[in-house]
Amino acid sequence: SCSSASSDSALSTESTPSASAGPFTVVLLGDGGVGKSALASIFAGASDSMGSECELYGGEIFEQTITVDGERASVTLLDIWDSQDEDSWSKQRCLQTGDAFIIVYAITDRSSFLHASDLRVQLRREREADRTPIILVGNKSDLVRCREVSVSEARASASVFDCKFIETSAAMQHNVWPLFEGIVRQLRLRRDARET
Ligand code: GDP
Ligand code: MG
Repeated sequence: SCSSASSDSALSTESTPSASAGPFTVVLLGDGGVGKSALASIFAGASDSMGSECELYGGEIFEQTITVDGERASVTLLDIWDSQDEDSWSKQRCLQTGDAFIIVYAITDRSSFLHASDLRVQLRREREADRTPIILVGNKSDLVRCREVSVSEARASASVFDCKFIETSAAMQHNVWPLFEGIVRQLRLRRDARET
């Protein structure tokens, strides 16, 4: 089975009254084919229910309320990167949209890893003033025999840019909810730091 305890808790629908947070806007970045849409569809709960209700606007914008550390957070996930025009402002505008970014590469594709580094450079330049949370995600961790990027290399690269790092497998639904929970925790830390 691919379901895990963490996905159950993340998708808890109990309406516990608590200081609700968000909505946080999270943008998926990375090369075509690395698994952004696969991660987004898990987020949307497509694997749990037939026809997900939170999928809007042609499957590029997903809204979900998840419970992390007992507190509910409303998250809007944008899977819009690949549909942006290459030669326009739209990619740049994408980098200015969003409270946090998930930069995805495939562990089986070294060039997608190098492009992920470029994206972090671009992001840090666009968003100099703030400390926008960025998580570097090495997806397709199930394809161990085709690995082209080691964990230690990716971790070192993430720390240079002050990013969190996690490996996921959308195919095996491994580490996908820890990824989304992690981003909510980072967004809260940033929000709390701002308020004090
Ligand atoms: P996107 O272009 O970044 O949105 O990538 P997609 O989500 O469309 O995935 C591209 C291809 O990789 C599809 O054939 C997916 O089924 C496959 N894929 C996505 N995630 C994984 C994964 O974790 N493991 C494996 N083995 N295949 C994956
Ligand atoms: Mg896609």
